[in-house]
Amino acid sequence: MVTIFMLSDDILLFFSHLHCLGCTPKYHIVYLVIPPPMSTQTKYVYVFSSSKTEGEASMKNLLGGKGANLAEMCRLGIVVPPGFTITTEACTEYTQKGKKHVLNLIKAEVQQSVALIESEMGKKFGDNADPLLLSVRSGARASMPGMMDTILNLGINDEAVEGLARKTGNERFAWDSYRRFVQMYGDVVMGLKPVSKEDHDPFEVIIDMLKAEKRVKLDTDLEADDLRELVQRFKALIRARLGRDFPTDPWEQLWGSVMAVFESWNNDRARVYRELNEIPESWGTAVNVQAMVFGNLGNSSATGVAFTRDAGTGEDLFNGEFLVNAQGEDVVAGIRTPQQITLEGSHRWAQLACISEEERRSQYPSLEEIMPEVYQQLVHAETTLENHYKDMQDVEFTIQEGKLWMLQTRNGKRTGAAMVRIAMEMLRQGMIDEKTALMRVGPDRLDELLHPIFDTEALKDARVLARGLPASPGAATGQIVFFADEAEEWAKKGHSVILVRLETSPEDLRGMSVAKGILTARGGMTSHAAVVARGMGKCCVSGAGAIHVDYKNHTMTIEGQTWHEGDWISLNGSTGEVYEGQITTMEAALSGDFGELMQLADKYRRMEVRANADTPEEAAIARKFGATGIGLCRTEHMFFEGERIIAVREMILADDETGRRKALAKLLPMQRGDFEGLFREMNGLPVTIRLLDPPLHEFVPQDEDNQQAMAREMKVSLGKIKMRVEELHEFNPMMGHRGCRLGITYPEITEMQTRAIIEAALNMKVKGMDVRAEIMVPLVGTVREFNAQAEVISRTAESVFAERGERIQFLIGTMIETPRAALIADSVGKQAEFFSFGTNDLTQLTLGFSRDDAGKFLPHYLKKGIYERDPFQSIDQQGVGLLVQMAVQKGRAVRKDIELGICGEHGGDPASVEFFHRTGLDYVSCSPFRVPIARLAATQAAIRELK
Ligand code: PEP
Ligand code: MG
Repeated sequence: MVTIFMLSDDILLFFSHLHCLGCTPKYHIVYLVIPPPMSTQTKYVYVFSSSKTEGEASMKNLLGGKGANLAEMCRLGIVVPPGFTITTEACTEYTQKGKKHVLNLIKAEVQQSVALIESEMGKKFGDNADPLLLSVRSGARASMPGMMDTILNLGINDEAVEGLARKTGNERFAWDSYRRFVQMYGDVVMGLKPVSKEDHDPFEVIIDMLKAEKRVKLDTDLEADDLRELVQRFKALIRARLGRDFPTDPWEQLWGSVMAVFESWNNDRARVYRELNEIPESWGTAVNVQAMVFGNLGNSSATGVAFTRDAGTGEDLFNGEFLVNAQGEDVVAGIRTPQQITLEGSHRWAQLACISEEERRSQYPSLEEIMPEVYQQLVHAETTLENHYKDMQDVEFTIQEGKLWMLQTRNGKRTGAAMVRIAMEMLRQGMIDEKTALMRVGPDRLDELLHPIFDTEALKDARVLARGLPASPGAATGQIVFFADEAEEWAKKGHSVILVRLETSPEDLRGMSVAKGILTARGGMTSHAAVVARGMGKCCVSGAGAIHVDYKNHTMTIEGQTWHEGDWISLNGSTGEVYEGQITTMEAALSGDFGELMQLADKYRRMEVRANADTPEEAAIARKFGATGIGLCRTEHMFFEGERIIAVREMILADDETGRRKALAKLLPMQRGDFEGLFREMNGLPVTIRLLDPPLHEFVPQDEDNQQAMAREMKVSLGKIKMRVEELHEFNPMMGHRGCRLGITYPEITEMQTRAIIEAALNMKVKGMDVRAEIMVPLVGTVREFNAQAEVISRTAESVFAERGERIQFLIGTMIETPRAALIADSVGKQAEFFSFGTNDLTQLTLGFSRDDAGKFLPHYLKKGIYERDPFQSIDQQGVGLLVQMAVQKGRAVRKDIELGICGEHGGDPASVEFFHRTGLDYVSCSPFRVPIARLAATQAAIRELK
């Protein structure tokens, strides 16, 4: 039995009498506290206005970017047309449970909110005498420009249009508003779509017909009666095509529009945009409903967009454009030439457009000149907004009969150069702190500051011929050549050339180095062409599959059209585009702000950034960009310089060790000289030199012409050359006779290279330089492989020390680029003094994707989302990354001070750099032109960790 007493409103007292046979009754006293009644209703609508605002900037997830910023503007006292935001949660309800359900959820709140707009505007929604018109706009968490739908002038019908005409005294305006509304609503909400190609935009077709009947050219030439006629024809079309009447009830119009915006979250455009920008479907869009304000109510009305700073250069100059007597969509449509907002901007614009001051003042005056008071209000608003958000703002506004209304504000998109300048200037102006300034610049965007770029004006008329991978950034324009030696000949004569190849090989190196750009039909982001071009800082587009190269006829064909040697083409290595003809390029300027930003970055960075550099010239560039060492010198690249290839080939052709040693002796002084150059450039900084790595077949010509030339040069028969080439042929060279396998089968190569390194180091030491040499063994898979090579290195070094009577300190380490090496990193770490992760090969071998052939299927994999990013560009964190993490732990467990770095192409990819920071590597090494990118990415990783 239970007895209940009520002690107070929220506390009940329970007595529970427990009886059991043979025992005394027991009383259990229980207090039950009833929580105060709580509203179980989720809030789906947030109003914003001068009198009441419920949202704020931090509520982007719920209110979308636009809604949250509208609320924030109201809080700042900026004049915004009053309105409300229906939350993204309502959109999710719509997607999951449909229209009826969501209408029930939001109806009452929307009705109350419309009442608030009515009281703020002093007009009634649905009032035919003086109607309140509304705008309905989407607004997701992340900006998705133009992807979803907008409806303007909502609330108008056959009666209200007359009221609007009377009230504004502007019949044409009223009918034009009605015409625009029927057009937008018919398309977006009612779904009237074209039925044929000629019918591309059914409403525009009707407008064109009427203009033809009236013999007028422009929409603005149509008069009120014409617009009335258009409304009738639009409605008739809707009735005929859809079997429904255009809705006259403003509420029906409003619900229809709100649901259409929710629906547009799932239209094809939005879906594709989300996929490309990795925006989750679950986010949904908010809907913003606002009182309409009109920029098309005559010459004291206008509409425009503005930036608080220059989005192109970053200059701290308020700028933007506007149109008098226009609605926002007219600005977007670009039919009329917009005017500049500031006088300064107007002068600059006129100068560029070659317009005289007189014409400018009479035809295109600035807002500052024609509406000075409104202009001052606009300046006040933009300053308030920028100071508040502490970032460059992109704003939209409307002026209705002399009154300024702000419609939107958001952080403005900008170029890489503008990013740097704005961040550094805001820091100097005391608006942001150092860490914020450093986080404001996208590391990848620094690329734009490092390479030549196309003149934007010249690019406007350029025709894209083909697209490939953006393998190495920058812009290049030149005449087509198909062979490396021809590239050299043409370049010697002063021509700018683009080397076009099916793919490149180390033989093409010299031709590549003199070409302005490189274009290949095959190969991926880590193909020979891509890697070498990035190292050289040279523009390269690789894997442009549409190109068919015909070496025999010295032509290339794209979709049936043929280009010959000597024809001009241009490449954009940052986008992968190939253009027809010659396009002017400009050297990118490294501004002072860029240098300052990089210095600041070093203050917060933990990881070092080294460079992959093979020559003293590359080392010098790397130093200029702030590299603090060489993380990878691929010695084989030196083998192609000048006369050396002859000695290399002699070594390859030798029948026995004696013959090989003879050839290697010729190479020794050349390599020593190279290493001296590297040590000189890097005075005091570490230089990691890798022993010979590629399969030997890369050093001999594959085609008969060149084989014949080689036979002549070497004074042997063509048959012998062919036989050796045949012997060197491998089915899978990447997994064949390469890496330390070469040094193990031919230890004399390792001996020669070690001798060259140590002698060079000693020579530089004598000259007073501080030398930090690190000798690296490639492609190790077992400890014995490493030990065998380490033994040769140590023995050779000791004999050089003995000969010279002097020593230097140096390290012997290994690349970790086979999965097995990573798995046994503890055993390897006991022997090796450093690890450098070769993530190109590690990716290739872990994924089983050939670096050179992945271009055939990877694009499909990326499109289908099987891999989110090209694993050769951005490290596969779950797979390859796990091996790196494991090897780091194992290496450190056995050797606390082991030096750990990475020298694969991932060393220049910001997302990978962040991963390597988290993994605890000591350095990343990347191509010289990516050094600043890696420096900033490493800094941002460190700052993120501090947060
Ligand atoms: C690697 O495999 O990541 C590496 C740096 O070596 P390479 O690209 O020369 O094979
Ligand atoms: Mg490798």
